[in-house]
Amino acid sequence: MSLWSGLPGAGDVLTVSNHHDLKAALSGIRGEVVFDAPLAELTSLRIGGPADVFVSPADVHDVCRIVRQAHTAQVPIMVLGGTNLLVQDGGIRGVVLSLSNLTTIEQEDDRLVFAEAGARMPTLLGFAVHHALSGLEWAAGIPGTVGGAVVMNAGTKLGEMQTCLDAVQLVDPEGRLMTYPAADLSFAYRSVSLPEGVVVGAWLRLASASRETIEARTKSYLQYRKRSQPLSQPNAGSVFKNPPETTAGRLIEEAGLKGHRVGDAQISTKHANFIVNLGHARSTEVLQLIETIQQEVWRRTGIRLELEWKVVGEG
Ligand SMILES: Cc1cc2nc3c(=O)[nH]c(=O)nc-3n(C[C@H](O)[C@H](O)[C@H](O)COP(=O)(O)OP(=O)(O)OC[C@H]3O[C@@H](n4cnc5c(N)ncnc54)[C@H](O)[C@@H]3O)c2cc1C
Repeated sequence: MSLWSGLPGAGDVLTVSNHHDLKAALSGIRGEVVFDAPLAELTSLRIGGPADVFVSPADVHDVCRIVRQAHTAQVPIMVLGGTNLLVQDGGIRGVVLSLSNLTTIEQEDDRLVFAEAGARMPTLLGFAVHHALSGLEWAAGIPGTVGGAVVMNAGTKLGEMQTCLDAVQLVDPEGRLMTYPAADLSFAYRSVSLPEGVVVGAWLRLASASRETIEARTKSYLQYRKRSQPLSQPNAGSVFKNPPETTAGRLIEEAGLKGHRVGDAQISTKHANFIVNLGHARSTEVLQLIETIQQEVWRRTGIRLELEWKVVGEG
């Protein structure tokens, strides 16, 4: 979802001419532009090298401009929310976009809410609770952006984005603002069939309910997470997708890998499907842990664990 097909990927090295292209991609952008921008602190895992250029577009028109210009100049571009990915230590070539200026949330009618893609999921959930709208309680404790939640079809066993998504607003590689009704998309576990582009907004269809009930449900889900997940340590949520009929956490635990460590990267002692950063973990250490888990689980069970995280950038 983050890279234009047919164009250089985030892992590709920029040549000198690409640097000229970078200038063309950034021409006239009104938002903040930072070159050689450190990304580690912008990720929930606190790992990763710099972006060639980090851009926070001023508004949706600015997004259209940079996407169009990057496409024309053949500069790779990706969006970073930062909570479900591993940025490699070599950093990310090309443009990394933050949608932190696109945070509007509004109620369009009784039950329809529009949220810009840079709004955080906890803020959206807070808005729904405040307006006595039910349907997003499953998202309690999911920390990313609305855009990231759409692209990942984020969810839990209690629900997922698909269950309340009405339509998606997306900037396509030509810089056009498009709307896709959710009914025209196909959803799967942690994925959705969206065309290439940057998600800039989403309409959510919710239901009226008593605020107390929604609040109580949300609270109990948050408490469950606190008990079962290593929330006090840098992490990026579940590392692997759950295979059918069991959970990745259970398989990893049964393989005796809970607490296993490579450098400062550790399989959480609290939840085996989480990798935590004990301080100065490097992406290579995390990748080594991932490989160990996949090999050991495969050897014991014949099940190939599939990454839920996105691994981006250069090693
Ligand atoms: C403590 C913790 C608990 C979590 N619990 C859950 C959970 O229960 N369920 C769950 O599903 N996830 C969970 N996550 C993972 C994560 O929060 C979600 O997947 C979230 O939806 C990702 O959003 P993000 O904005 O951080 O996206 P990122 O992680 O930055 O991006 C994920 C992918 O989407 C792309 N992308 C992001 N935004 C856009 C956009 N606007 N347009 C186009 N592409 C985009 C990125 O380029 C990347 O490829 C958890 C994470 C943490 C740290």
